[in-house]
Amino acid sequence: MGSTHEVTNQVPPLVGHDPIAGDTVLAEACRRHADDATLFSLSDLGRLAGSEQAQEWGRQANENPPRLRTHDRYGHRIDEVEFHPAWHELMRTAVGNGLAGAPWADALQATHPTAPGRYAHVRRAVGYFGWTQNEMGHGCPVTMTYAVVPALRRTPELAARYEPGLTATDYQFGLTEPTGKRGLIAGMGMTEKQGGSDVRANTTRAVVQPDGSYRLTGHKWFTSAPMSDLFLVLAQLEEGVSCFVVPRVLPDGSRNVFHVQRLKDKLGDRSNASSEVEFDGTTAWLVGEPGRGVPAIIEMVNMTRLDCVLGSAATVRAALTQAIHHARHRRAFGALLVDQPLMQNVLADLAVESEAATVLAVRLAAAVDAGESAFLRLAGAAAKFWVCKRTPGVVAEAMEVLGGNGYVEDSGLPRLYRQSPLNSIWEGSGNVIALDVLRAMGRSSDTLAAVSAEIELARGLDARFDDAVKRLHAELGDPEGLPFRARRIAGLLALCLQGSLLLRHAPETVADAFCASRLGLSGGGVLGMLPASAAVGKIVERASIAPV
Ligand SMILES: Cc1cc2nc3c(=O)[nH]c(=O)nc-3n(C[C@H](O)[C@H](O)[C@H](O)COP(=O)(O)OP(=O)(O)OC[C@H]3O[C@@H](n4cnc5c(N)ncnc54)[C@H](O)[C@@H]3O)c2cc1C
Repeated sequence: MGSTHEVTNQVPPLVGHDPIAGDTVLAEACRRHADDATLFSLSDLGRLAGSEQAQEWGRQANENPPRLRTHDRYGHRIDEVEFHPAWHELMRTAVGNGLAGAPWADALQATHPTAPGRYAHVRRAVGYFGWTQNEMGHGCPVTMTYAVVPALRRTPELAARYEPGLTATDYQFGLTEPTGKRGLIAGMGMTEKQGGSDVRANTTRAVVQPDGSYRLTGHKWFTSAPMSDLFLVLAQLEEGVSCFVVPRVLPDGSRNVFHVQRLKDKLGDRSNASSEVEFDGTTAWLVGEPGRGVPAIIEMVNMTRLDCVLGSAATVRAALTQAIHHARHRRAFGALLVDQPLMQNVLADLAVESEAATVLAVRLAAAVDAGESAFLRLAGAAAKFWVCKRTPGVVAEAMEVLGGNGYVEDSGLPRLYRQSPLNSIWEGSGNVIALDVLRAMGRSSDTLAAVSAEIELARGLDARFDDAVKRLHAELGDPEGLPFRARRIAGLLALCLQGSLLLRHAPETVADAFCASRLGLSGGGVLGMLPASAAVGKIVERASIAPV
């Protein structure tokens, strides 16, 4: 009760839900690509993800961003970054639940005996999807730790040195000698001042030493999570761009040269530190072959791209969850928002977008378990383009469902909104990733064959889908001006994949609304324009998450 009025019609906080098991679409995808036991092994994480405690960690980690300490009180360089304790709780939970490098090893079985190893990547993807909805910033080092393992395996001695720590489920923060730590975190340094997408323009140089190690001289313009234990870094050798591992602490326990110049003042992602780094005689070891740095680091990039898709799909889901919750409690003009036709249209459209993104993201993770590398290479790039690119618009629409409250920090939507463009920018910005879709098809016919086979599984189920597939083939069959059309091709490829998955696995109501609104030629570009035939009530009901 206020002193001048009674507070009514405000929405209760959304707390105590389970964004994993309580999300029908995610749970179905988990069972489809893995099994009940996999989903069950994420029960505790799901409950924690929707808890007040986890939400508080997320808020605190973002309201108390990391601070750089370049020097100690006596003037010695230390290049350390301090984080709020809430950040460490988030990291500990993610690593402890196997969301970092664990799927690559048996480590997961030790702490989660019910977790079936053959679905380890789906399990991790579903857990990552649910857990990071609460706080996205710490997803960055978790992702890089997951992604580094396949690249490191190009040099078995390095994999033997670091993999036990990278695949562990212990989180041990702090700069000490990596092989003596219970758990390790990894980062990556590719982007330099003069070019990020064009990594061949890198100017950092590497010089071989008599003991077989290398010394690096140069810089990186973006290096996130600078307190990571080790980094994959690109630098030039005479043979060309090469990939190196750079630990922050050397085998003798001394600090490697890793000068953190400053932290970026970012739009969002504020809990996470992204830094500018200089190397000056920095010790490194070669990963893979000299001059073959791009194929080596691409092994990592393929995995980080998977997480870009998962992270953006999770962002969309988190925004949708808030929107439905709000609409179910807020009344305007005499009725709950959720019961008003135009709001139902908006919510259902958001739900269709979310389901399409979710099923595609989990399908990509299943490709890792199944070793479908050709499928992952092309489908991953197309999905990275489409799902990440659409996320900011979708989050903005969900924010609007909350009216003015959505624009206010307390609602959590501004934090989601600021985070939402990031996955489209890093690991291949929109144009670069669309051009990479062409490259993936050009390099090998296996990639298109694998993706086409998946699309074909739904051929004949819906005329609008069949037309879209025909348009895709027409685009691909026309060799003229391909780069100019790369976005259209990447988007259509992703839409055909989403259509194929929804037509086979989603309820007819969802698949029909998807085909009507996404596969026609006249998409309005604004959400909430589903045709009158769309079963909006059923779609919104399916997307609702009940309290535990
Ligand atoms: C929060 C954050 C964290 C990051 N963390 C890391 C990190 O840990 N490690 C790391 O290495 N990098 C990191 N990055 C950097 C990021 O990966 C790069 O910014 C990104 O790859 C783009 O590179 P660039 O900024 O040099 O832009 P540019 O390469 O200059 O590209 C600018 C624009 O031009 C477009 N473009 C480029 N080439 C073409 C072309 N041929 N045709 C048409 N369009 C083109 C791009 O799509 C982009 O839109 C981070 C970035 C951010 C924002």
